[in-house]
Amino acid sequence: MSDTSKTRLFDMLHHRSARLAKGDPVPDPLVMSSVFALPEQPEPSRTYGRGSSPTLEALEQRLAHLEAAPCLSFPSGMGAYAGLLMAALKQGDRVLLLSDGYYAARNLVSEVLAPFGVQLATCPADTIADTDLTGFAMVIIETPSNPGLTVIDIDALAARCRTAGAMLAVDNTVCTPLLQNPLDLGADAVIVSDTKAMGGHSDLLMGHVASRNTALMERVQSVRTLMGLNPGPQEAWMLIRGLETLEIRLERMCSNARALLPVLKASPHTSDVTYPEPHPQTSDQGFLIGLRFTDAATADRFLELAGFAPTTSFGGLHSSGDRRARWGDDVSGGFLRLSIGIEPTAQLQAAVSSALSAL
Ligand code: PLP
Repeated sequence: MSDTSKTRLFDMLHHRSARLAKGDPVPDPLVMSSVFALPEQPEPSRTYGRGSSPTLEALEQRLAHLEAAPCLSFPSGMGAYAGLLMAALKQGDRVLLLSDGYYAARNLVSEVLAPFGVQLATCPADTIADTDLTGFAMVIIETPSNPGLTVIDIDALAARCRTAGAMLAVDNTVCTPLLQNPLDLGADAVIVSDTKAMGGHSDLLMGHVASRNTALMERVQSVRTLMGLNPGPQEAWMLIRGLETLEIRLERMCSNARALLPVLKASPHTSDVTYPEPHPQTSDQGFLIGLRFTDAATADRFLELAGFAPTTSFGGLHSSGDRRARWGDDVSGGFLRLSIGIEPTAQLQAAVSSALSAL
C-alpha cells in the first residue's frame, strides 16, 4: 500500500474519533430515519431520506477520505454504474467498454441505455492501448480486467482520453482505493462495487461513484435523488464496519493468493494459472487468480474438495471460486476465477494441495 493510501486510510479510520464529544458512542450510530425535522426554512442537505441520511453521509465522508474525492453511494455496484452513466451520457453518445470486462456493465448500456440513444462499442482489455478513441463520450475500463486479469495503464489511457475528448471511468472494484487510485492517475470518475472486498463479509450489496469533477457529482447526486437510487442506512452502516478492517483483510487475501500460486501452478490438473502482472499504478497484485482445469466437472470438483464456496462474487472473507463460462464470459468451461480469502495460510495451502491431489 502506498504512503498516500495509508494516510487516507488513517484519516478514514479516525474520521469519527477525531470529532467525538464526551459521552458520544465511538462507532458511527445507525440512524434509521427517512424524515427529518424541518421547521421554517429546510436545510438543503438534510430534508428527506431519498436525498441523504446521517448514516449514509457518515459512510460517504469515510469513502471520500479513501478516494480523496467526493463520493456518492448506491445500493449496488450496478446502481453506481447506472448513476454515473445516466449523469454523464446523453442521446447519441458512444461508450467504449471492455468486451472481457464485467458483462452486466455492457448489458446496462445495450439493454437499458440503447433505447435512449446511447451506443455501445467494445474492445478487449489487451487491445485498448491501440483502439482509436475518437468519437467516444466515455471509456470505461476495469484494471486488472475481470476475469482475464489484464492490466491497463490508467495514466496513459487517461492522457489519450483527454486528447480524444472522452471521459475515463475506471471500475476499481478489484483493487479498491487502498491498492490503486485511478483519480490520482488522471481518470475522471471511479466506480466501485462495495459488495466485494470493500464490504468484505459477503452480506451486503453496495457501490459508489467518486469524482473530483464537481459538476459531474452534482449531476450524479441529482440522478440518484430523482431515480430513488440511494442506499438505506442499514447497508451504509454495515459497509462502514467493513471498511474499518479493509486493509488487514486485503493484506491477508493478497498474501494468501501469492502463497497458493506455486501450489496451483505445480498441479498437472491446472493450466494458464494467471495473476495480474505487477505495475507501478497498483501497490499489490491482488487476491484474484484465474486458472483452467480440463473441464467444468473437474473445476467444480476442485472447489468442492478444497472447501471453496462456489459463488459468483469475489472479495469476501472466505475463499471462493466461479466458473465464468456459466455467465457467458469468453473462457473455457473449466476456467475458474478464484477469490482468495483470509483463512490461515498454511491450512489454506494444505486444503488446496490435497484437493488437487485428490482430483
Ligand atoms: N464491477 C465488477 C468488476 C463486478 O465484478 C461487479 C459484480 O460482480 C460489479 C461491478 C457490479 O457490482 P454489484 O454486484 O454490487 O452490483
